[in-house]
Amino acid sequence: MLQRGLTTGTGGNLSAYSPSDGLYAISPSGIAYDEIRAQDIVVMDLEDNIVEGTQKPSSEYRMHRIFYRDRDDVLGVVHTHSIYTATFGALRQSVKAAHYLVGFGGVEIPCAQYATFGTEELAENAFRSAEGQNATLLANHGLIALGDSVERALDIAEEVEFAAQIYYRARTIGEPIILPEDEMKGIIDKFAGYGRRT
Ligand SMILES: [Zn+2]
Repeated sequence: MLQRGLTTGTGGNLSAYSPSDGLYAISPSGIAYDEIRAQDIVVMDLEDNIVEGTQKPSSEYRMHRIFYRDRDDVLGVVHTHSIYTATFGALRQSVKAAHYLVGFGGVEIPCAQYATFGTEELAENAFRSAEGQNATLLANHGLIALGDSVERALDIAEEVEFAAQIYYRARTIGEPIILPEDEMKGIIDKFAGYGRRT
């Protein structure tokens, strides 16, 4: 996340789920990414119990747990405060498909209803907004990306942030042409088949 410019300091959080164990590993609260050691990672179950680790889990663990509990396709969650997606979250506007790479997250990236960080309400709002999506914006906050691995979720976060940046920049000098829904659905099908940028 640091190397890809998706966060600074301790902003955002990541987790990976093991469905056979019913456990997920999540980044700790309040430790800079470049200082996190393996033993600082917190392992939790889906009832919010800490199974392993001595650190506090990320304050947003509820927003990770809800996807592992209620969506079979999600095995990795990445939450960022990246600049352009957070900007659209501040406007409470969706990121539209001015660039085809928005398809990593969906036909467009909607914005979840506002709730205070770290709350169950925010987790529920994010879950609802992300239905049928691989990403959603969080109002006045940032982005959450969902994948079948934490690596995939990180890639999705990066592509969606890029698409948000292009949409923003295009709007500053004109009116971007938004790709039609049919075209985006075809693109999403193509993305499902393979990994990163094509
Ligand atoms: Zn956050």
